[in-house]
Amino acid sequence: MNVFVTGGAGYIGSICVEELLNRDHTVAVFDNLTEGHRAAVDARATFIEGSLGDRKHIFQAIQETKPEAVIHFAASALVGESMTNPGKYFQNNVANGLNLLDASLEARVRKFVFSSTCATYGPPDRIPMTEDLPQRPINPYGESKLMFEKVLKWCHEIHGLEFVAFRYFNAAGASEQFGEHHRIETHLIPNVLKVALGQAAHCEIYGTDYPTPDGTCIRDYIHIIDLAEAHILAMQPGRQGFYNLGNGEGYSVREVIKTCERVSGRTISAIEKPRRPGDPPRLVASAEKAMRELGWKPKHPTLEAIVASAWRWHEKHPRGYGPISTVPEGISSKRGTGARIRKSRAQTAA
Ligand code: UDP
Repeated sequence: MNVFVTGGAGYIGSICVEELLNRDHTVAVFDNLTEGHRAAVDARATFIEGSLGDRKHIFQAIQETKPEAVIHFAASALVGESMTNPGKYFQNNVANGLNLLDASLEARVRKFVFSSTCATYGPPDRIPMTEDLPQRPINPYGESKLMFEKVLKWCHEIHGLEFVAFRYFNAAGASEQFGEHHRIETHLIPNVLKVALGQAAHCEIYGTDYPTPDGTCIRDYIHIIDLAEAHILAMQPGRQGFYNLGNGEGYSVREVIKTCERVSGRTISAIEKPRRPGDPPRLVASAEKAMRELGWKPKHPTLEAIVASAWRWHEKHPRGYGPISTVPEGISSKRGTGARIRKSRAQTAA
């Protein structure tokens, strides 16, 4: 199938592109490289540098590549940053996404796959979380993704657009070739592994007074390759709707740090910090619907396996795709959109 991938130079996008190419799909990556890395784009893909904010460019790129399916990863995706800069989230995740959607509708794209998030639910009434739970986001990131989910629903009803929106829980881990490298790293596992690599003196625990057994937040970590596999299944004709992607197991921040210590064989020191605004205490998926309807089955469900793949990649690529970035106090930022037009073949990945 001919697939157009926005955000294909980012963490999740790059690995999904790799998996698509491994199964002989043809892939065009559209990315502005503000958060993604040129070296993270598989050399077998066509690369188009551009911004979803540039309506003319995205229409042109879709018309030229004539995709049967669009997978839309490009987004701003940091809870913390969204609490200080909400406008960026509504601009990138809603307004810019509409340009892509309009271009896809005009070109009669057959399938639209969207990266949504468990942050659309807010703190859940029950665990594990099923897709029918009320969606009450407590941060602009979750709200912006929920808004785009609603746009998709109406485009399905009115234009017959077939879409799958995946509500990701916590994507983690790496493939052999591609891994997680954000210019400003705010995510737990890469930050903890930085300590194991000797690149940071300690990691930070954001909040130890949550209503959880050890007082730290609980998340459901899912292997990036399992996540990618779900997108491939979603492209089959007739697949339609909203799906959670997670393993159904929750791990606290302290448990993640312990697992990183076991996997790396290094001692990892951690300091306790106040809560990070916008973080729900506990998010754990039920992915029964994806398993039942898409035939999805995670191949790497254990936290140990997820962390081990991340550790292998970070040991092999201690600088990621470029200079090491550190985490300034209280900051967050992520995949965005914005930039110019350039088309070229991808270079070799790092
Ligand atoms: N977290 C932490 N220290 C860090 C990064 C994250 O304690 O350096 C916590 C964060 O507050 C959340 C969990 O780890 O409860 C997972 O955060 P992450 O940013 O990895 O993903 P999110 O759940 O926000 O998408």
